[in-house]
Amino acid sequence: MSRRAKSSLRTLARLFWYARPYVPLVVITIVFSLVYAGGLTGRAYLTRPLIDDIAAPNLEVSSLEDLIASGQVEAPEDMELQRQQLKSQIQDRLGDLLLAAIVLVLGMPTARLIRDYAGEWVMTRVGVDMQTHLCQRVLGLPLSRFEQEGRSDLIARMMSDTLVANRAQVLIFGEALQDIAIVIAAAGVAFYLNWRLSLVALLVGPAVAIILQVFGQRIRRSSQARQEQIAQVVARMLQILGGIKVIKAFRAEKLELDAFKRENFRYFRRAMRVIRNRVLSRSFVELASQAAFMSLLLLGIYAIVEGFWDLSLGVLTAFLFISAMLYRPTKNLTRAYNAIQDALPAAGRVFEILDAPAEPEDPPDAIALERVGKGIRFRDVRFNYGREAVLRGVDLELPIGQVVAIVGRTGSGKTTLADLLLRFYDPQEGQIEIDGVDLRRVRRDSLRELVTVVTQEPILFDTTILENIRYGRPDAAFEVVVDAARAAHVHEFIEELPEGYETTVGELGARLSGGQRQRITIARAILRDPSVLIFDEATSALDARAERAVYEAIWNLMEGRTVLLIAHRLSSVRAADRIAVLEDGRIVEEGSHEDLLARSGLYRELVELQLSPMTSR
Ligand code: ADP
Repeated sequence: MSRRAKSSLRTLARLFWYARPYVPLVVITIVFSLVYAGGLTGRAYLTRPLIDDIAAPNLEVSSLEDLIASGQVEAPEDMELQRQQLKSQIQDRLGDLLLAAIVLVLGMPTARLIRDYAGEWVMTRVGVDMQTHLCQRVLGLPLSRFEQEGRSDLIARMMSDTLVANRAQVLIFGEALQDIAIVIAAAGVAFYLNWRLSLVALLVGPAVAIILQVFGQRIRRSSQARQEQIAQVVARMLQILGGIKVIKAFRAEKLELDAFKRENFRYFRRAMRVIRNRVLSRSFVELASQAAFMSLLLLGIYAIVEGFWDLSLGVLTAFLFISAMLYRPTKNLTRAYNAIQDALPAAGRVFEILDAPAEPEDPPDAIALERVGKGIRFRDVRFNYGREAVLRGVDLELPIGQVVAIVGRTGSGKTTLADLLLRFYDPQEGQIEIDGVDLRRVRRDSLRELVTVVTQEPILFDTTILENIRYGRPDAAFEVVVDAARAAHVHEFIEELPEGYETTVGELGARLSGGQRQRITIARAILRDPSVLIFDEATSALDARAERAVYEAIWNLMEGRTVLLIAHRLSSVRAADRIAVLEDGRIVEEGSHEDLLARSGLYRELVELQLSPMTSR
């Protein structure tokens, strides 16, 4: 078996695996599929007794009577007896037939109902389970997976690929199971009726297999390309949604639409390649099955005329009925096979995410820290995002009880430093220690309990303001939430809202200013009550006075804790206990505001740049 076939089988097996918790229902589906298929085949089989036991003897007797009436033949002595026998034979068979008819009429819809419901239940549930599983894994992925192109790729996989993969599950647990049952039942009866004719009919098998194989492979390949293209389309959509203000302001609607069209048409072409192969495959299978049916018909008639193979008219008719009955399931199975080939790459893409390495596991002896006693220390930390080095040996101390500010030009690596402290990434060289313990040996959940960040981009969730502030401490008492909001100087604003803390962020929409949003996220961080609080440009949307008020409140609250302050506006870091200047991936200066000003180094240069009205940027 080729490697590709093996991996397809593995993917298929994993899709099946999702039905594991629902085995009883799967068994019910299979059993009732078989019952239904048996019913269908039985119905076709009935033509044999109808013709051979009833119609044909009846025909024989009546033609004999015709001959007697026309005087060509003399009536045999037991003519009456023969007629009586026939009559009772018909009556006997009629009873059986009637019973069979009742069983079929009532039994088949019932079987179908049970099978359809159980099958649909399993496949819908399995789709939901897979998506939930995916979401769970996505939440555990390292941050690097969520950057720009990674994001649209993830959306495409979470939305489109899971749907397409679920289609394979639908086909497996729905139609396919049923159709396979019909094919098996029909083949069994066909062999029972006449095995020689059945063997001839089987010849169509290899032909169909070759057709399916050839086109299946093509479908798989083109479907992979199509699914990858969906990520590109999603990327354009995200760009439009995220950049709509700029797009409108720069009148770039046409530009965006053209770009979208380009990607979407590429999707169309790739989708059509899948469809072309699917349609061709189906037509060739159709050709093979039509040819097979006609050949069987001709061969059967020839066999009856020539009197070989022990074929009666009833057997041939039943046989042809059964062959005709196979037509629809064969067509369905072809479709299902193609759709499964189509779904395999999508399923593979889903499994890629499920198998993607999550954030590295905590080592077994990882320590759960309760609080930070002494402080944090960066030791010769070196880090890059894959290309150029961002940090080239940072040494920095953040003792408990101090506010330490990091300043530096844009892109100098300040945010990266904060991300390392939260272990969104690990340094390639050097280490970060918390009370002398390497961060990699601290349990991640306890670390993120101790260290909290407020980012420049105030991220609010679409729920009430109360829930937003309580985000990291869902069980916090209302009074505690209010205290945090007061410290963040946002309590008064919230009080004035029509529904106060119960107002939802979505309702407010654009009525929440950037500054108000920032203050809500600050309140959220304060409520968390961390040992180390990182402010990454967290007050950039506040005016200088509001900023100072927020800082003062936080300094008071943060007694015995550490604040790492990243700020672009240098006036806001003046009050920090210590200021570290980051440049070229290293800390080049460190000291209080006054110390650094006196030193006429980079800090002074930056301060002067910001103060000078002509050159300030
Ligand atoms: P600052 O916060 O000082 O503006 P950052 O830490 O955000 O600087 O970025 C430092 C450098 O690392 C920049 O050159 C930036 O382009 C690069 N960078 C930041 N984040 C990523 C990322 N996720 N992937 C690749 N490069 C990044």
